[in-house]
Amino acid sequence: MIEKRIEELIEILNKASYEYYTLDKPTITDQEYDDYYHELEKLEEKYPQYKKDNSPTKRIGGKIIEEFAKVTHSVPMMSLGDIFSEDEIRDFDERIKKTIPNPTYVCELKIDGLSVSLIYENGKLVRAATRGDGITGEDITHNVETIKSVPLTIDFKDDLEVRGEIYMPKKSFNKLNEERKQNGENLFANPRNAAAGSVRQLDSKVAAKRNLATFIYHLPEPDKYQLTKHSDTLEFMKKLGFIVNPNIIVAKNIDEVINYVKDWTVKRDELPYEIDGIVIKVNNIADEKTLGYTARTPKWAIAYKFPAIEVLTKLKNIEFCVGRTGKITPRADLNPVHLAGSVISSVTLHNEDYIKEKDIMINDTVAIHKAGDVIPEVVRVITERRDGTQIPFKMIDICPICGSKLVRKDSEVAYYCENKFCDARKIEGLIHFVSRDAMYIDGFGERIIEDFYNMGYLKNIVDFYELKKYKQELMELEGFGEKSINNLLDSIENSKQNSLERLLFALGIRHVGKKNAQILAKEYKNIDNLINTDYETLVNINDIGEIIANSISEYFSIDENLKLIEQLKEHGVNTNYIGGNIIENANFKDKTFVLTGTLSEYSRDEASDIIASNGGKVTNSVTKKTSVVLVGENPGSKYDKAKELNIEIWSEEDFKKFLEI
Ligand code: NAD
Repeated sequence: MIEKRIEELIEILNKASYEYYTLDKPTITDQEYDDYYHELEKLEEKYPQYKKDNSPTKRIGGKIIEEFAKVTHSVPMMSLGDIFSEDEIRDFDERIKKTIPNPTYVCELKIDGLSVSLIYENGKLVRAATRGDGITGEDITHNVETIKSVPLTIDFKDDLEVRGEIYMPKKSFNKLNEERKQNGENLFANPRNAAAGSVRQLDSKVAAKRNLATFIYHLPEPDKYQLTKHSDTLEFMKKLGFIVNPNIIVAKNIDEVINYVKDWTVKRDELPYEIDGIVIKVNNIADEKTLGYTARTPKWAIAYKFPAIEVLTKLKNIEFCVGRTGKITPRADLNPVHLAGSVISSVTLHNEDYIKEKDIMINDTVAIHKAGDVIPEVVRVITERRDGTQIPFKMIDICPICGSKLVRKDSEVAYYCENKFCDARKIEGLIHFVSRDAMYIDGFGERIIEDFYNMGYLKNIVDFYELKKYKQELMELEGFGEKSINNLLDSIENSKQNSLERLLFALGIRHVGKKNAQILAKEYKNIDNLINTDYETLVNINDIGEIIANSISEYFSIDENLKLIEQLKEHGVNTNYIGGNIIENANFKDKTFVLTGTLSEYSRDEASDIIASNGGKVTNSVTKKTSVVLVGENPGSKYDKAKELNIEIWSEEDFKKFLEI
């Protein structure tokens, strides 16, 4: 079993390497390659008896194309070990410190291109070569000579080899793919493959047109020039006229390295070229020598790779959810995948048109994208991976919960279950009523609402205010105690003081979102004024169009709805506009907040809303006037700025604690 899997992985990886390095046409993503690679590495470590000679863990790069002259590197061109988390960066530091007690590091951007060796004799570029398998590369001098940032002559007469990365700037890549699309040619998967494809051409006219560029970052034989630090070699090469990346820093300790990594994780999109990580190198060349090499990689350097924002996974099924308005939303059930810090097992597919437009079928391999706070989504289907098991999508025509016939309204793409008594609609309506932007009744998870509904305690929104009658019974339910029921009842009681806009939004009137609820509450001041208004007056309010006005008029024309509102009033629920709806909390009141990084329990919008509803203000940049910086996972440069300016810093835990006081 294990041996077979090892063989299988070797076969997959070797095929992928050939397609990636030799043909410049990858058929699997880097993320998939890295996952297979690490699975193989782990198996080989655990079962060394099954290690094979053709394993990619023993080799660098791919096969050399025969058409190019072969070049033997005087010093092997190595790959880099890779790591993926802050913990692994600290482990690397610990490993180094076992041999070098006080290391300093150089942090560099990991340019996503291909490495090149440039050899100068008597001040003239005489040879440029690819890395190849690390020992032997391909002679690509004719193409490299066309790259403007590579000096053909330098003011230095000794023999010299420098190494660096050839890359294609984002702009040139987009232009190139645009042209190829128009000419009906295959598109390049990414700028790295486009750059590699361009320098591995026999005709140098092709490379000349491709607008390639270079960053030089390595001097293989520093001793020859009496240089003792990697940072000095960079300075030396810069003085000779090579382009050295301007964003390189020397870090005194691993915390500075981690800050650099965090900073560039956020800022990488601003660069005009792609980077796929950060390279961390020990600065002292004598230390490099002490640390040495493994078969493939130096021990004195490592590549931290950025987390993927796009991954591939299998779409196992398409299910249908019924919302509180009866809207039917198709949802993709996925093979769970790790993406940007969370596990994704389902994504919304919005509606039938969306699925058709993206040509999504059951059993498809799909690319899922998620960046920062953004909700994950299907970016595209990998049609090349279709294997005949795909099942075309078919929209349902009856409600999956109550079996009523679904209706597609003329102006909308969505289908609706029109049965007001559909259980799914009712439960969703109750969930909506208690939600943060609606009545904000804390302590009700979706599960509790569903259970209370099924047990008969909650049938409609008025029942929330009657729950106290059943306090004793509720306390005896499994998973509840006096404290949690008291908290729940307190929270229900507090919700009675909400300003009108919360109630209007909570009622779940179709098309009345948070913003419209605000507008209506401000305009009408109390619910009776709104109930008694007419359609004409409604449509004349800014931002309230015909569709919304119709929906409001229809809602208040139904006796049952009016009865519910009367009952809410009888329970003491406020139906007036109080304005602002601010819960005064001294920890937030009149303070200016800046958010950085990802919070685990709140999206940025949610956190901002909470701050505002507690009397604080959220701004974008950290200045002396900022009161608090709220820091989540992987914070950006705002975090450093806050430290620099000595501004109060809150973790997510602090945030939650201060909310409760
Ligand atoms: P690598 O790209 O992960 O890292 C090593 C390389 O980083 C160096 O050779 C150098 O070219 C480059 N680099 C960029 N900036 C640098 C800097 N400042 N200092 C030093 N080096 C710098 O390693 P690799 O061996 O070239 O490639 C392996 C990776 O390629 C895999 O992890 C995978 O992501 C990808 N790959 C993908 C496929 C596929 O089919 N999709 C196949 C093979 C490899």
